[in-house]
Amino acid sequence: MGKSDYYDVLGVARDADQSAIKNAFRKLAMKYHPDKNPNDPAAENKFKEINEAYSVLSDEDKRAQYDRFGHAAFDGAGAPGGFHGGSFEDIFSRFGDIGDMLGELFGRQGGGSRGPRRGSDLQVAVRISFEEAVSGKKTDVTYDRHDVCGTCTGSGAKPGTKPQKCKTCGGQGRIARQQGFFMVQTTCPVCQGTGETVKDKCGDCAGHGVKRVQRTLSVKIPAGIDDGMRMRVPSEGETGGPGGQRGDLHILVQVDAHPFFKRDGAHVHLQRDLSFAQAALGDELTVPTVTGEERVHVPPGTQHGTVLRLRNRGMPRLDGAGHGDQFVTLNLVVPTTLTREQLELVQKLKASGL
Ligand SMILES: [Zn+2]
Ligand SMILES: [Zn+2]
Repeated sequence: MGKSDYYDVLGVARDADQSAIKNAFRKLAMKYHPDKNPNDPAAENKFKEINEAYSVLSDEDKRAQYDRFGHAAFDGAGAPGGFHGGSFEDIFSRFGDIGDMLGELFGRQGGGSRGPRRGSDLQVAVRISFEEAVSGKKTDVTYDRHDVCGTCTGSGAKPGTKPQKCKTCGGQGRIARQQGFFMVQTTCPVCQGTGETVKDKCGDCAGHGVKRVQRTLSVKIPAGIDDGMRMRVPSEGETGGPGGQRGDLHILVQVDAHPFFKRDGAHVHLQRDLSFAQAALGDELTVPTVTGEERVHVPPGTQHGTVLRLRNRGMPRLDGAGHGDQFVTLNLVVPTTLTREQLELVQKLKASGL
């Protein structure tokens, strides 16, 4: 299909540092963001390409892999952030923390001193077994976050009383200070920018207006998920205070390694020993796959290191488009001990010229 080189996509040199990569990404993301280019599939594709390139190059580990192996490093459904298909748009954080950055770029994060602000994002880690990554898993995640206090509805004032206008900033939430030739505006240190102070504090939240609560959420981890991927649950993060939008919850999924299956995206690799007799004569083997046992045919005259490919016997693809493949590497093993009978047979083999 011919994917573009990630460095070319961002227009940066191969030895560009992280700040150069981030700057290039910001500029391009602003230009091609779907909000700015409605109904323009070319811009949308370009935007996806930019995000994909950034998600790899901004991560030193992934970047190192990419430098060594190119796009092959991320072949299969386990590509960074799961870039295949379109069905995970909402639940899946395909762009990692880029979402936050775009929010910041487009001013969705609030950032003003007054009025409702967006709450911050939270992250919670979930560990699952290799088998659970194969089947997918419904699980509960429990984490702490803040909710607006119900007693004072977030004002922090004792019921029956009201917050007062902050005297320091006159209710503006900001104070202006002369600094050299300039007037510099800063957040009011007394009211922290809210413009209000509370004299009689709400007993339930100690005047904070928010309370720490434990939240349990039922989530469905999709089959085929890979170690280190993150799922985004919109508006389940930290509260933004009264009237403010909640941040998002990111669920970092950690998948246990398997004793003998090794993953490469949706593909699975397995090592299998083979005796000289099996290699020379050929054999039928039963090998495990992630979805059960499979019979494989080893042809006569098989060489050490031969790789057999079992199509569609790998991990489920995240976009639901079937499975990856399983590769079985056959390793010829030379015996270190022989019985008397075997010794005689091998000597005969040798005498025969083998
Ligand atoms: Zn309260
Ligand atoms: Zn103030």
